[in-house]
Amino acid sequence: MTPVADKLREADWDEISLSIPATTPHRVEQALAAQQPDINDFMALVSPAAESYLEAMAAKAQVITRRHFGNTISMFVPLYLSNLCANECTYCGFTMSNRIRRKTLSMEEIALEAIAIRKMGFRHLLLVTGEHETKVGMPYFLEALAVLRRYFDYLMIEVQPLHTHEYQQLQQAGIDGVLVYQETYHRRQYSQYHLRGNKKNFDWRLETSDRLGQAKMQKIGVGALLGLADWRTDSTFAAMHTSLIHKYYWRSRCSVAFPRLRPCEGSTPSASMISDKQLVQLICAHRIMHPQAELSLSTRESAYFRDNVASLGVTSMSAASQTQPGGYSAQTEHLNQFDTEDHRSASQVAAALSQQGLEPVWQDWLPGFRG
Ligand code: SF4
Repeated sequence: MTPVADKLREADWDEISLSIPATTPHRVEQALAAQQPDINDFMALVSPAAESYLEAMAAKAQVITRRHFGNTISMFVPLYLSNLCANECTYCGFTMSNRIRRKTLSMEEIALEAIAIRKMGFRHLLLVTGEHETKVGMPYFLEALAVLRRYFDYLMIEVQPLHTHEYQQLQQAGIDGVLVYQETYHRRQYSQYHLRGNKKNFDWRLETSDRLGQAKMQKIGVGALLGLADWRTDSTFAAMHTSLIHKYYWRSRCSVAFPRLRPCEGSTPSASMISDKQLVQLICAHRIMHPQAELSLSTRESAYFRDNVASLGVTSMSAASQTQPGGYSAQTEHLNQFDTEDHRSASQVAAALSQQGLEPVWQDWLPGFRG
């Protein structure tokens, strides 16, 4: 059974992308006043007409966020375990045909990274790999988790889509959340960006949240890589995706991210880029539609931008990220997946948040209370 993926497959990309620009100012005002906004309200809030209502959207998003999350921002950091990849994605530095030095961390190297990350203050970790099932698959993940559980209270993972029973195994091994972004929900454009490997299979990826929900994963992360296709339509699909997970798998929390395409080795410029102002609009639209969803912002964004949107709707932020395996405990070069923009240390990011009256939270989960 794949009820979430089935509903997403039924949604008509062309119909949605035509109706969003037709939104009137009156319709935006109705969406802003809605008690329980639905997907049509979301479409109004990401429309060009809503750009003139950004201040009202930001004010509403801020109130909702503080009501549901207090002043807290959850701090996490990605740990890249491997940059091996058996896929060809045209926008990514790890793509199979790129002649970069490949590296998979040994268990000893993982422990060194864990110690370096703990020294930075983090208790909440996101594990990331390229997608290489044979060399970096379940046996490797389970071995790595046995090491990492000693150092961290909350573990998330962003790797290739897995089977339901594998997600259950990961959960038993200590994983609390899984992020699998669809990249783009536009099926035809998806095939133009994903040229070789298992990632070509659009439906297997789309059905991941159903497998995660059925595995009763505590947190499921969704999102579109902004810049691959029309951002307003892709984001509407991501919002629909979030609502469907809430509806069908209500035991799982949902997390939404807004990664914008970043320059990387061999990448091509994007024609569908979203501006800073539009990204603020999008974050506010998500917050208004999904008051309880975790909204996450990474170091792909600049320090200036992150400081400015931190109080509006975001509830989770990475800091001091290295996007290459081994980057926290040793100096490595030319291995990274993409360039980051916010190069501040974790304590500098935390201090900037505190200056705004926000409270950086390094640990909000005690393993002893895991259900
Ligand atoms: S986006 Fe993921 S699957 Fe595609 S090349 Fe990069 S690491 Fe591999």
